[in-house]
Amino acid sequence: MVRMMLRFDNEKVHEPVTSQVILEEKIPLNIMSAYVNQQGGEILIDVDSEHAERLAKAFRKRGVTVDVPKLIEKDEVKCTSCGACVSLCPMNALKYDPSNKVELNEAVCNGITCGLCVDACPVRAIRLLG
Ligand code: SF4
Ligand code: SF4
Repeated sequence: MVRMMLRFDNEKVHEPVTSQVILEEKIPLNIMSAYVNQQGGEILIDVDSEHAERLAKAFRKRGVTVDVPKLIEKDEVKCTSCGACVSLCPMNALKYDPSNKVELNEAVCNGITCGLCVDACPVRAIRLLG
């Protein structure tokens, strides 16, 4: 599975680009989060690895910016495993491991469309990327 960020400018956001791509390419995708208004939008999707390149090309051809982001970064030195971020995470991307250390699973993080853990961390151990 590949996670992609689709960015729509203030013109593209008024076109049914996402549904066109799904219908024409016949590639199923899963929308993990979306933030859209009149000025533009960002949609975070998951797609099977085998279809990822074709899907990215199809969106880019229609003027959508496609990023495959590294979403957030946790500083393992700064993190005290206090757990303040764990219960806030809507994706269960932050969990205690068997040795009671808080681990981040980047593969399921919603990144810049979420960011709840960034503000919650008392030692600023998490930062958003891209
Ligand atoms: S950014 Fe959101 S989804 Fe990602 S780890 Fe933080 S709280 Fe969880
Ligand atoms: S809130 Fe910060 S210090 Fe606490 S477990 Fe999460 S990343 Fe680590």
